[in-house]
Amino acid sequence: MSTEINERYRLFIDGETVASSNEEYQETENPATEETIARFATATSEDVDRAVEAARRVLPEWQQKQPTERGKALERLADAVRDDAETLVEIETLDQGKPLSASQRAVEGLARTLEYYAGAADKLEGKSIPSGNDTIDFTVREPYGVSAQIIPWNAPLNLMGQGTAPALVAGNTVVIKPAPTTPLSAIHLARLIEEVNIPDGVINVVTGGAEPGAALSGHEGVDTVSFTGSVPTGEAVMKSAAETITPVTLELGGKNPAIVMPDADLDEAVTSIQIGIFANTGQICAAADRAIVHESIYDEFVERIVQRAESYTLGPGIEDPDIGPLNHAEHYEKVLNYIDLGIEEGATVETGGEPLDREGYFVEPTVFSDVENDMRIAQEEIFGPVLCVIPFSDREEAIRIANDIELGLTGGVFSRDVKQALSMAREIDAGSIYVNQWFGGAMGAPFGGFKKSGIGREMGLEAFDSYLQTKNISVNLAER
Ligand code: NAD
Repeated sequence: MSTEINERYRLFIDGETVASSNEEYQETENPATEETIARFATATSEDVDRAVEAARRVLPEWQQKQPTERGKALERLADAVRDDAETLVEIETLDQGKPLSASQRAVEGLARTLEYYAGAADKLEGKSIPSGNDTIDFTVREPYGVSAQIIPWNAPLNLMGQGTAPALVAGNTVVIKPAPTTPLSAIHLARLIEEVNIPDGVINVVTGGAEPGAALSGHEGVDTVSFTGSVPTGEAVMKSAAETITPVTLELGGKNPAIVMPDADLDEAVTSIQIGIFANTGQICAAADRAIVHESIYDEFVERIVQRAESYTLGPGIEDPDIGPLNHAEHYEKVLNYIDLGIEEGATVETGGEPLDREGYFVEPTVFSDVENDMRIAQEEIFGPVLCVIPFSDREEAIRIANDIELGLTGGVFSRDVKQALSMAREIDAGSIYVNQWFGGAMGAPFGGFKKSGIGREMGLEAFDSYLQTKNISVNLAER
């Protein structure tokens, strides 16, 4: 093993690694073995104060830099990420549970995200507004200031990059708080910052759970909050940010519908939905959670997806299986409880449904048939490898089922009829729609939720709306 992971990780504040004010540490474990792999500092609200103070102090210096200088700093960070890829990959796999190849894609994705936003640095233009010959009226886009980045545990590196990169390029400084079950890659990334000549205080990392998270989202010195996580915590973040009228970007949960029309290429639909629900062991907000399948092809769809589910290899991420364990004990219990609930509600387990008889938080890929959309397993985000297959008889019913839910993150349609697929894409209430595929969308494509799935967009140039505020300047040119 190349990584010296079994150590104490400290906070990263103002360019230095420091202990938390109470000098307390907590443990993070490998979800494949349930063994502790490292200890990390538990940040207090005092530590959050220090991090926010450092981020505020350096704001003028960071904002006075030419935009391309900020872009170049991100390019250097992308190079450092690639140079250190082996270590980052291993850390992400041991801490999160992902297969090595998925962590490799995550690390490359982080580097690409940094480069994408680096290239946008000198293109963040305002506009001019026609207002007659005696006035010039134009807008400039200015950074908010200190950006809080609160990250979940399902894709720590990618989600950190998606928020942090546009924030920094736009001239904000950041305080990052990773999730308490996956803190290591953020702390390791902070170490690379020291190598790439980004001023002290521009990027700070505070680790711990809800306490530093809440301290950050309600902090007087924070100017904008980007939160990715569950709906209940999103509500708490929004409430605490309301106290200081701080804008929030919320990327929350999904329970996403994948509609399979009778004319679909069934193999394409099965392959896409299989990847959509089982990749990352189902711990993806954009997952294909509800397959809504026409009754004429329902049995065949179930038969085929069951075969695929049964073909998966499960194992420790470090052995690069198809899928790894769930991330932590509490989540493992939650997923198993949902499987029990589905059985109680009258759905049929076609395959899976059991934990693996070994150490680690492994749950078999599970397919439920006979699911009705008002069952809790169809309405609530399970965030595990559990597919609900729901039948429908006509197009209107498919759309009604798809939209009869409080969430609206992603959705999909499988049909060979392009008119039908595109008009249904317009009818599904969700922020991203995939047609004849799943997880589509380039890096430049905006991503975010309708309804309770969130507020604002990440990715693409639209992400800058969370990090730049518009100032309008109007100039009187009239001679007196
Ligand atoms: P979570 O809400 O429990 O925690 C997210 C983060 O918030 C963690 O860092 C946590 O420590 C912190 N936190 C906890 N309590 C807090 C509080 N009171 N104030 C401020 N911060 C607090 O979510 P999770 O279980 O870590 O992540 C899974 C959820 O994230 C799922 O619902 C998933 O759909 C969602 N998610 C959404 C997207 C998206 O882009 N829409 C992407 C990935 C994950």
